[in-house]
Order: sequence, then C-alpha cells, then structure tokens
Amino acid sequence: MKLSPWKSVPEGALDRWRQAFAAPSPGVDLDLPCPVCGERQLHRYYQVGPRIPPTVPASQFVARGALWEWCSNCRSYEHASALVPAWWHAELPVESGALTAQPDALEEALRQRSPNRDDASAVSEQEEACGAPRVPRGT
Ligand SMILES: [Zn+2]
Repeated sequence: MKLSPWKSVPEGALDRWRQAFAAPSPGVDLDLPCPVCGERQLHRYYQVGPRIPPTVPASQFVARGALWEWCSNCRSYEHASALVPAWWHAELPVESGALTAQPDALEEALRQRSPNRDDASAVSEQEEACGAPRVPRGT
C-alpha cells in the first residue's frame, strides 16, 4: 500500500487548522472535520518531556514537550516543540524513540489502538472508507 507523503498544512487552511486544535481535547482524536480535506480524521499528540516545576500558580501547562497535529486522511501535519497543557492525557502507546517530526509512528500507534473498529454507533461511511474487509489471518 502506497501512502502519500506527509505535508505541511497549506497556508490558506492554517487559520482554520489552528482553530480546530485550539479547544482542549484530552484524547488523541478530534471530533472536527479537517480544515484541509473535510474528513473527521484529525488527531493530536503531545510528547511529555520534563515536568515544569509548579512555581506558577494555576499553571495551564505541566511539562515541556512536543506537539503533533495531523490528519490521517490527507496527511497534513504540524509538528513543534510545545508546552504540554494540563488537560492532556495521552492514550496512545507510542515509544518516544520511534517518534520523528512526521507522525508515522503515531499513525502506527493509532492503528494498533483499534484493531477492530466495530463501533456500531460510529458513522458507517468511515467503515467504507477503510476499504478492505478485515479477514483473519492464519489459522
Ligand atoms: Zn485532512
């Protein structure tokens, strides 16, 4: 399977991209359409680095780290060093050593997170978009 390369968010969509990611969402998935392609496949991930000493009262941030924002569908992404907000709670089993500027390792972790996405309440067109039916391998 050939995947298209990751690309930076187009300048024309950058404002809407930032708005989409502006609201806190403790998990990896955002329930918003991608500003670039319109699919609801936006994700974000904070790599949590050194903790910030709690010297600032009521600090919004708990650590230094790095941030990825990406769309699984059109493979637009942003990556930067960032302060980790207090609302972030990672749920993605990704090894920090596997992380690069581009969110390949994060995408892989997403796939492993949900091996069988049979969430009946999920939008059925997502199922179709997935393409190949899941056939158990081996015996
Ligand atoms: Zn997209």
